[in-house]
Amino acid sequence: MLSINDRVSLSLRILMKNTFAKVRPFLTAAIALAAVTAFSRPALAQLNVVTSTTDLADIAKSVGGAHVNVKHIGEGYQDPHFVEAKPSFVLQLRNADVWAFVGLDLEIGWMPLLLDGARNPKIRLGGSGYLDVSSVIPVLDRPSGNVDRSQGDVHPLGNPHYWLDPDNGKRIAHLFQTKFSQLDPGNSAAYQSNERAFDAKLDAAMRALVPALAKIKDQPVVAWHTSWRYFAEYTHMNIVGFMEPKPGVPPSPSHLAGLIQTMRRTNAKVIVMEPFYDRKTADFVASRTGAKVLILPPSVGGIRSVNDYIGLLTYDITQLASTF
Ligand SMILES: [Zn+2]
Repeated sequence: MLSINDRVSLSLRILMKNTFAKVRPFLTAAIALAAVTAFSRPALAQLNVVTSTTDLADIAKSVGGAHVNVKHIGEGYQDPHFVEAKPSFVLQLRNADVWAFVGLDLEIGWMPLLLDGARNPKIRLGGSGYLDVSSVIPVLDRPSGNVDRSQGDVHPLGNPHYWLDPDNGKRIAHLFQTKFSQLDPGNSAAYQSNERAFDAKLDAAMRALVPALAKIKDQPVVAWHTSWRYFAEYTHMNIVGFMEPKPGVPPSPSHLAGLIQTMRRTNAKVIVMEPFYDRKTADFVASRTGAKVLILPPSVGGIRSVNDYIGLLTYDITQLASTF
């Protein structure tokens, strides 16, 4: 006599045997198809890439081409130190294969919140898609001692505005090429050829700017924020002072008094600043020194006509040269 358990077990076995007999032809076909696809499949579907800034997004698109789908979080006209963490960004990050960010604490105010919300192990520290772009950059202004954030310095790990030097643009492109090739080896040749094309286009643009660069070389200028340090390394403009006494700290009257003296002594006639800083204060200093205030976009999309990385550098260098 069979127990209830035995009977259940037996009928299950009969059911499974019958079911398997019915589906076996389909299963065989499916396995065969999977094998064929595994061999013939050239690459993944598009890699989903999310970047913190428009500049990284544009370089990622140049390198990834048709094989990547790129979204960015901060807009080029926003102060990159302060971005609002919107829920829609969490959804983008949830589906991301790559999360590329500037690093050096530029995104410290909002990135941890978004990454926690996204619950995507691929893009967490240690995940295959976690890409701290600053890791390939020779960083300027690394503090030698301890930096106290309470004093307002927004660059405690060094200067994060490195994309404004085209040599760093190439380093960023190479990093994307390496990462995309690693995650999507089937398209590696395309990523390498796209990187070469990007480098060649950037080189050609910079060659065309040689006369403009000659005008800028050694000219004394004042910048609002230290965001123009890397740009100055490349263009050899001579930054004689900053409107901010420390990165992220608004100008005080005593600091401005000293700056005005420096500008008179060095004959600095241009104040370079981003669209989101306080124009009135810059105009005040300009009125005391006979300088001109030059608003330059620090990122792709900072003004409407600047919609790619090479265009950004071209615009900023051309505009600055035209003031001398
Ligand atoms: Zn900054």
